Order: sequence, then C-alpha cells, then structure tokens
Amino acid sequence: MKILVLNAGSSSQKSCLYEIQDNIPENPPKPIWSAQVEWRPEVAKIKIKTATAELQQDISASHSETIAYLIDSLHQGTTKVINDLSEIDVVGHRVVHGGKEYQSSVVITQAVIDTIQQLATLAPAHNPVNLKGIEAIQEHLGDIKQVAVFDTAFHSHIPDEKAIFSGAYEWVSQGIRRYGFHGISHQYCTQRAAKILGQNLDSLRLINCHLGNGCSLAAVKNGRSIDTTMGFTPLDGLMMGSRSGAIDPGLLIHLLRQENYTPETLDNLLNKSSGLLGISGISGDMRQILGAISQGNERAKLAYDIYIHRLRYYIGAMLASLQGLDVLIFTAGVGENSPDVRFSVCEAFGFLGLLLDNQKNHNHPVDINIAAPESKVKVLVIHTQEDWQIACECFKLH
Ligand code: ADP
Repeated sequence: MKILVLNAGSSSQKSCLYEIQDNIPENPPKPIWSAQVEWRPEVAKIKIKTATAELQQDISASHSETIAYLIDSLHQGTTKVINDLSEIDVVGHRVVHGGKEYQSSVVITQAVIDTIQQLATLAPAHNPVNLKGIEAIQEHLGDIKQVAVFDTAFHSHIPDEKAIFSGAYEWVSQGIRRYGFHGISHQYCTQRAAKILGQNLDSLRLINCHLGNGCSLAAVKNGRSIDTTMGFTPLDGLMMGSRSGAIDPGLLIHLLRQENYTPETLDNLLNKSSGLLGISGISGDMRQILGAISQGNERAKLAYDIYIHRLRYYIGAMLASLQGLDVLIFTAGVGENSPDVRFSVCEAFGFLGLLLDNQKNHNHPVDINIAAPESKVKVLVIHTQEDWQIACECFKLH
C-alpha cells in the first residue's frame, strides 16, 4: 500500500510517500519520496528527495498549485517514484486540533472537514492550513481516501482534574480545557520505546520530552497520555525557542492595563519573541545558545538555565501524575541532538536512581537506552517520526 502523508505547519510543510506491504514493519522504513516546502511571501521553496535524486526549486504559486507541483513530482521527472497517481491508496494529514470531537484518527468526510473548520477558532495558525491541504488533494487526486490524524487525540483521555483549568466552571462547556499537542510524536516515541526495550507499553510509566522549536512533555501510563504540559494552546508549559511557556496570568493583566499591550502585541511577544530568543536576545536555536555560552555570554547562560529549570520542574509534575517513572525519553531537535541538555536535566533526578552513561549520551545516540546499567530509570533518545506514525494510522484505517 502506498501512503502519501502531508504534515503541514503554519509556515512549512513536510510530505512523504511510504510503502507498507502486508504488515507494519518493526522498524520504520525510509519514505520512498519526501518533500519539504517553506512558505515565504510570494514564493514556495521546495526540496524533494528520493533514493536516487534531489531537487530544489523555488516556485511562485498558490498553496494548491504547490501541492499540484509536489504530486506531479511523484510520477514525473527526476524524482519520479510511481508510474501513475492511481498507485497512491490513501493520503494522511496531520491535523493540529481535533478538539473534544476526535479521540482518534478518522477517515475524512465532508462532516469531518466542517468540524476541522469549526475547530479553527482553537488553532487559527494550523487548522486552516491543514484544511487547505485536504482540499488541494481533493482537487488534484479526486475522491481518494483521506485520513486526519490529530495532534490532540493522544491526550484526549487526560482525566478532568488535570485537563480542566481552575478558572470559571463555564469554561468547561465553552470547550476551554487542556487539549495538549505534539500527540503524534508523544504516541510514536512511547510506542517505540516499549519496542526498543522489548516490554509491554501498558506496563510502563513514561515521560516523553519533545524538545524542538516547540516543547512539551507527556506523562504516559497504560499506553495513554495522562498529563501534558501544553494546554488550551501550544503556548503553555515549558520554555521554548521563541515561546514563553507558562507565565503568571496576572502578568498579562498587568501588561494589558499598565503597558498598553493589545491582544496582537501580546500574541507576538509571547509566541514569537520570548523563550530562549527573548531571554538571550540572540536566537531561539539551542545550538546558538550553547555556542554563545561557550563564548561567555551571560544572557545565553541565563536562557539555558531557565530552560533547564523549567524542564526539571515539569518533569517533577509529570512524575507526580505518574507516581513513579520507568522510562524518560528525549526526542525532537534539541532532545535528539543535545547531550548537554540531556545531562543537565538528568542530573537533577539522581535521587530516583536515574543515572546516565556519559559515553552513550555523547555518542550521537539514536533509538537506544543511554542510562547506565545500574540506573533504576531507563533513558531513551528516540528519533521522532511523526510522518511514519501518520502513515501507520492510515494503514490501520484503510
Ligand atoms: P520543529 O519543532 O520545528 O519540528 P525540530 O524538532 O527540528 O523543530 O527542532 C529544531 C530545534 O532543534 C532547533 O531550533 C535547534 O534549537 C535544535 N537543534 C538541532 N540540532 C541541535 C544540536 N545539535 N544541538 C542542540 N540543539 C539542536
């Protein structure tokens, strides 16, 4: 079965074509075709890769025309991997917000499209782009089966006392609650961890640290997320590249009253110029923060220290929700690539009997346990593969 995956963010889109034979393989295969689009004003910067070819192209085209270009590249030119578009069996989409409505992946119908549209008020930067992708596929591939895989779904069983905010009771009926995000990655990494350890996922208590540009933790028990750090929006919880994470809500009232902030300036401040970038004044990229620290930059050091403190603080919160810990997982850009961050975080949890193997930690680990043999908690570094997870969901629903 050939599965096309569209994983659209607010300013970029990753796409992959996977082939799954009779069963989902034990280890994720490489896609047979992959593409990356960066949407810039007036131009789409496209990179396409197959086993034998690489193509880079800037095109001036609408969203739908760009998807048409990608689809054409599947069966034409140097990046051709199929003879005919009819070989594609199903198209899977990452959809950021599934609200209370969707607790698992679904086959897309007009009713599903309408609901994703209604949920756009909860995810204005994401759900509309996800819909554009669904509509472009309808336009170019006709009535092919499409599947929506939601970032919120994995968290949809978080118990009420952890999901409901301690504000107005009316918020519950207004849909204001903790939804959580990065669910596709949290689900993939925790399932993968159980496979790597050769243990039953249901018997493990895990914390997954997804540390990319956006950062969140999930506490997973019986294979389900039971707590997470992102909330009603992806702004809650950990300090991130350019997002503040949780801050005193009274501070927002102060800024609105005393400093003449508007919703737009607050949005911009908290989402785009806070976090590592805001505190360091240098960058939201952890590599640059670490580089600046090695040059003696004090604001970069402060940014790093806050980032680590917040991580330890929320791991503590997840520990309390889980009432114990068997596996700590690091994933995404920072989690997979920064031994410094992993060391700084783990250092605080020696009291649990958690001990890192320093050599393994520094040896570019991928999908392995980097805890010392005597450690009471396993520490895994896992390469997150959201697109593969989406393909697997499509396979199950086909
Ligand atoms: P996204 O959340 O956009 O999918 P990624 O998961 O790719 O992002 O993470 C991107 C971030 O990963 C970068 O901003 C950078 O901070 C971090 N990163 C990548 N490589 C390294 C590295 N070698 N050391 C530290 N941080 C890294």
